[in-house]
Amino acid sequence: MKRAQRGMPSRLVVGNWKMNGGLASNAALLDRLVAGATALPRDTTLAVCVPFPYLAQARDRLKATPIAWGAQDASERAEGAFTGDVSCGMVAEFGCRYVIVGHSERRQVHGETDALVAAKARAVLDAGMTPIVCVGETLAEREAALTDTVVGRQVDEVIEALGADVSRIVVAYEPVWAIGTGRTATPEQAQAVHALLRGRLASAGAGQVALLYGGSVKAANAAALFEMADVDGGLVGGASLNAEEFLAIGRA
Ligand code: PGA
Repeated sequence: MKRAQRGMPSRLVVGNWKMNGGLASNAALLDRLVAGATALPRDTTLAVCVPFPYLAQARDRLKATPIAWGAQDASERAEGAFTGDVSCGMVAEFGCRYVIVGHSERRQVHGETDALVAAKARAVLDAGMTPIVCVGETLAEREAALTDTVVGRQVDEVIEALGADVSRIVVAYEPVWAIGTGRTATPEQAQAVHALLRGRLASAGAGQVALLYGGSVKAANAAALFEMADVDGGLVGGASLNAEEFLAIGRA
């Protein structure tokens, strides 16, 4: 089914800055994004997910603009003796609309499990923000024909944990082998997994959830990916650090 037929005309393009940036370079990047955002299609929402120390900077620069901002992770816990952690309540105070949870770098580097990712998604929702829940298979899993099993398990855990609230999340399919490698999934590979995700979510009454593709998205490949029936936008890492490239993805 086409996106418009699902009553889903809008697109979402989210930048994931990862652990990059600095006050001066952020200011220049945000200024260029704000200047370029006026030329974006009206149905497209642009957002940037920045490192915690820059949330105030993003809020101050973006609050009177159509560009949204968010964080790249947050704790599932509300408060207490958890040195180094940042709660969803803290992040929400900075006006964040989105929080990425379950990025493969969190799963791989910090050992985050499906259950923890689901708990984080719940905490983000409870703080009044939208979790962008990342799922995706490794190269070894794809080569062993386990893509559907892995991605299905990852999304099912979130569906089960959130119940009816799963309709309030965004899901990003990010094949691990495509992240930061320059090797993008083909539009057909992306669509196949997005169709699986759409099916699982629709069975849970959440067929309208926005499904983003992520993994080496650039201006040159964005249009072909975004043309796919179940691709509602993108989660963009490296290319979101370049204003012109990120804006071009937003226009794709
Ligand atoms: P990439 O990262 O666009 O640099 O591949 C995407 C992501 O990890 O969100």
